[in-house]
Amino acid sequence: MSQRILIILLSLALGAVSGAFGYSLVAQKRRAVELSIARAEGRAEAEKAVADEMAALKPVVFAKAANSETKAGGVQFGYEYIKPRSPELEPFYKMAHDGDMLRKLPEVHAIDGMLMLPRPINYVTAQCNEVNAFYSPERNEVVMCYETMKTLLDRGTELAKENGGGDAYAQRYLDANVRFILLHETGHALISLLEIPITGREEDAVDQLATTLMQRFAGMDESTGVVTENLRMASNWFLVRSTGQYSLDAYADQHALGEQRYFNLQCLLYGSDPARYLSIVTDGDLPEARAKGCPEEARRISRSWLRLLLPYVAPKYQMTEEKANRLFEQRERERDRNTGVQYVR
Ligand SMILES: [Zn+2]
Repeated sequence: MSQRILIILLSLALGAVSGAFGYSLVAQKRRAVELSIARAEGRAEAEKAVADEMAALKPVVFAKAANSETKAGGVQFGYEYIKPRSPELEPFYKMAHDGDMLRKLPEVHAIDGMLMLPRPINYVTAQCNEVNAFYSPERNEVVMCYETMKTLLDRGTELAKENGGGDAYAQRYLDANVRFILLHETGHALISLLEIPITGREEDAVDQLATTLMQRFAGMDESTGVVTENLRMASNWFLVRSTGQYSLDAYADQHALGEQRYFNLQCLLYGSDPARYLSIVTDGDLPEARAKGCPEEARRISRSWLRLLLPYVAPKYQMTEEKANRLFEQRERERDRNTGVQYVR
C-alpha cells in the first residue's frame, strides 16, 4: 500500500476533528457571506452608537507621549453588535451590547486611533451558528460569535463549581477569554492590513501578540495579579479543547496543539518576570527545561512586536523604542500602585 493511500485511510478512520474552535480560513469565507445577511438589522443602531461615543474616546496609553495636538492621529476602529436570531443567544447580545464590550476592551481601546491603517478594523459580535471567532479580510472585521461566549460561560461555570468561584468567576473566565481571542484575531487583522512580515506560524505569532498586549495594555485599574489570572484563564481554554489524542488533521492544522499553545503562553508569562512568576515552574505548569529560555523568549517576542508596529504608529503618538519601553514600565508601576492601595475603615 502506498504511503499516500495509507494517509488517506488513516485520516478517514480518525475523522475530521480539526477546527473545533474556528479561526479557520475556510470558515471565514462562509461566515462572511452569512454575516452579510444577518447584520442588516443591527447596523443603523450600531452606527449611531459609534457616532455618539466616538468623540469622547482617545487612546489612553500613549496620551502622555502625544507629540502635539496638531499632528495626525491614527485610524479609529468600528464596533457593532448584531442582534442574534436565536433567543438562547439573546443574553450574550445583551451582555455585549449593553456593556459596549468591544469598545471597552482595554487593549483594543489602547490601540484604537493609534495606528495608521489602510482601512479601519471593525469589531463585531454576531450569531454564527457555530462556536467561532475570526478575522474576515474581505470585510475587515474581527468577529466574536455569541456561541463562543455561551460556550465560554458554560465552561467558566463548570470551573467555578470545581473551585467554588461562583458566578463572578464564570463571568471573569468569559471576559478573559473573549479578550484574548479578540486580541488574537486583531493580530491576524494587523498582519493582513499592514502586511507585517511573519516567518513561522502566523497562529503562534498572533498568540504572542495577544499575550504581549494583555501584559502591556491592561486597564489601569487591573493589578498584575489580575492580568496574570486573565492570561491563565486563556491558557486553561487551550487545554479544555485538547483531548491529548489527535488526528492527522490536527497535526496538519495551522494552529499548534492546545497543549503547545498552553505551554507557550505559560512561558511568555513566566519569562516576563521570572521572580514574580516562579510558582508557574514550581507548581509544575512549565517544565524547567523550557523555563530556562523563557526570559529571553519573552523579551524577544515583546520587542519584535513593538518593532513591527512602531513604524505604523500615527505621527501624534510616534516615539522611539526606548521611550515606548519606558512608558510601558511606568504604566505597569501605575497600575500596581492604583490597585495596591490599602486603607483601614
Ligand atoms: Zn488565529
